Amino acid sequence: MTTVIDVRNLVAGYPGVPVVRDLTMHVDAGEVVALLGPNGAGKTTTLLTLSGVLPALRGELKVLGGSVPRGRPHRLARRGLALVPEARGLFYQLTVAENLRLGRHRRSTTTVDDVAELFPALRPLMKRRCGLLSGGEQQMLGVAKALIADPAVLLLDELSLGLAPVIVQRLLPVIRRIATERGIGVLLVEQHVEMSLAIADRGYVLRHGELVMSGRGEELLSRRDLLEDSYLGEAAADGR
Ligand code: ATP
Repeated sequence: MTTVIDVRNLVAGYPGVPVVRDLTMHVDAGEVVALLGPNGAGKTTTLLTLSGVLPALRGELKVLGGSVPRGRPHRLARRGLALVPEARGLFYQLTVAENLRLGRHRRSTTTVDDVAELFPALRPLMKRRCGLLSGGEQQMLGVAKALIADPAVLLLDELSLGLAPVIVQRLLPVIRRIATERGIGVLLVEQHVEMSLAIADRGYVLRHGELVMSGRGEELLSRRDLLEDSYLGEAAADGR
């Protein structure tokens, strides 16, 4: 299996503020990996570092077999990395179809029809201004816009932000399908721990910038008490 994200002993953060410390993790092609942890744990910082928006302060970082060019996220995007940020990365004045067209590049083989097949709810909305969509529809469009660029790695930051759990329950299986059918490596930052682990192959749990747990989805779910401790700030790493 090809490893699409390979992180070793990463230290990442902001000038003078290391946030993530000694993080080692990987994502293989076709895998969904959940990156979990309470607010401020360093999940977004990790995604921004992987996508080249923030520089790595120390450690080794490989995305799609190559290094992450400092301050040049567009180069990584061209190589096949797509980030759907918390803010969804959409143009709210433009229509759904226009947003999707902007996501395509010359070599894209994925069409508007392909993404409409994955997210049928978008089909009747193609001419609607993005700003008029519901939160769930905007989130689908955010993912669809990333997919239309044919990524090999997809980073999703809080897909479920502001969405009703029932919508999240519909979205997450589509993410699973995308990874399996297209061989895309997905790193999923999520607050809905159980729902995301139910579709993930593996998960990593960060707390205060440090890795406190990792394992297969079902394994993490079976150690729910420990998982809850890492969120609530109790002794998480004492092997209970
Ligand atoms: P959340 O779910 O709240 O977004 P997170 O796990 O994604 O949590 P990060 O956004 O990565 O956490 O933030 C981790 C830490 O980095 C926090 O303590 C935050 O205050 C700090 N931080 C975030 N942005 C900056 C910045 N621009 N400069 C300095 N520190 C920052």
